[in-house]
Amino acid sequence: MATVAGVTVEPGHWIGGERTGSDATFASVSPIDERPVAEIARGGAAEVDAAVAAARRAFPAWAGTSRDERARLLHAIADGVEKRIEELAQVETADNGALIRSHRRGVMPRVAHNFRFFADRLLNLGHEDFETRGHTNHVSWDPAGVAALITPWNAPLMLATWKIAPALAAGNTVVLKPAEWTPLTASLLADITAEAGLPDGVFNVVQGYGAEVGGPLTAHPDVNRISFTGSVPTARTIAAAAAPHLTPLSLELGGKSPLVVFADADLDLAVDLAVEQYDNAGQVCLAATRLLVESSVADEFTARFVAKASKIRQGDPREEATDIGPQIHRRHLERVDGFVQRAKEAGARALIGGGPNEELGGLYYRPTLFTDAQEGAEILTEEVFGPVLTLQTFDTEEQAVAMANGTRFGLAATLATGDPERARRVTERLVAGTVWVNCFFVRDLKAPFGGSRQSGVGREGGDWSFDFYCDLKNTVTAP
Ligand code: NAD
Repeated sequence: MATVAGVTVEPGHWIGGERTGSDATFASVSPIDERPVAEIARGGAAEVDAAVAAARRAFPAWAGTSRDERARLLHAIADGVEKRIEELAQVETADNGALIRSHRRGVMPRVAHNFRFFADRLLNLGHEDFETRGHTNHVSWDPAGVAALITPWNAPLMLATWKIAPALAAGNTVVLKPAEWTPLTASLLADITAEAGLPDGVFNVVQGYGAEVGGPLTAHPDVNRISFTGSVPTARTIAAAAAPHLTPLSLELGGKSPLVVFADADLDLAVDLAVEQYDNAGQVCLAATRLLVESSVADEFTARFVAKASKIRQGDPREEATDIGPQIHRRHLERVDGFVQRAKEAGARALIGGGPNEELGGLYYRPTLFTDAQEGAEILTEEVFGPVLTLQTFDTEEQAVAMANGTRFGLAATLATGDPERARRVTERLVAGTVWVNCFFVRDLKAPFGGSRQSGVGREGGDWSFDFYCDLKNTVTAP
């Protein structure tokens, strides 16, 4: 048992409705002060086998549970989340260093909404039957089996429940492997599912490191779906592990998304959108880290951006007034700083930031903006996943589209323009899973979500989640 931010957190796995430990443990370290907050069970192949077996045993009954009952239980979980928003927010902030204010008001309410949305969607799921030469075609959404869900640390409970909710709604049982840097809220969620009355074995959590838990889980012959959110290199390893059994995969990966600012844009809005890219200390997959600005307004844009960015309040994420907190982990900060120092060596100029925040110390990294990076430079092509943006200029719409698309990623793109016709033209040519026009981060769970190119495989959200988590079956009946 551990107490984190005044909340009791079970440090074990959650398998078949029981807490179990492992011989080994690992420390969960708070990014706020780099102090360990809990010793967590360090699972391996044995715990994965036990969790998959528990999920498999629970599957027939859960798959056979009526849609109404499954939806009722998902709403009961959402009720449990809503009752514990403050506790979940406190623990998540201690564990991943993101802002308490966004956990309280945005993230944890969205966690509850993930369950409510997919519960309601389930009740409206289904195709119209249709006829072929007098025969009836009926499409059914059969639960696929055991879903293995593997999630990252940047928005732990939100990203986990974005997968758990549709997987359970679809009638699957789940084995979740949370990121080892942020194991805590998954453990609280296990308590909530038990309190809500979810049958034993329907939801399981195995804690531990990527290769030790994620490796055997993704290679497991009894796993029927793998949904992964994380980095491209890990996705490659998972795809290879899944290949022998041809386990279907959904991959939500990284990005190097552009924010394209045309001269006809509302510049105040464009600057606000650009500065917003530092949210969560830049640890956001969708962040538009490449600012592409039309040359004629570039000086004005840059001056206003620097003025606004200099007002960002960096500090303790538990303070309501803080705008951005620390990086997740010392290893991650060093990785981010490696990109920044190499960018400088390669001739890019840091207009703001360019290193750790020495006043605050610890894991705080100063919001950074680079200009003058050479075409093809690492800082323009690789995902940094920290508070680091680059600014490039363009002269024509054609050039803007080419630069926006000039990446191996395709997660998102944001446009700032006052010309709706231009927005339509440019959007049509962008390769991206999501395009925002004069806005950013507006998300509806009904929409498809995912990435093109190396930003992912498949789409989740709305009925697309059910497409993935179900085996669709067409039954043709003679007249
Ligand atoms: P990561 O790939 O290092 O780890 C993600 C998860 O995979 C963790 O739980 C980790 O333990 C696990 N893992 C590691 N090795 C594994 C293996 N061999 N087999 C199975 N699982 C393994 O990613 P991260 O650093 O935690 O997260 C940051 C990345 O996630 C960034 O690239 C970011 O863009 C991406 N991301 C994408 C989205 C999206 O929706 N597209 C959302 C958030 C983050």
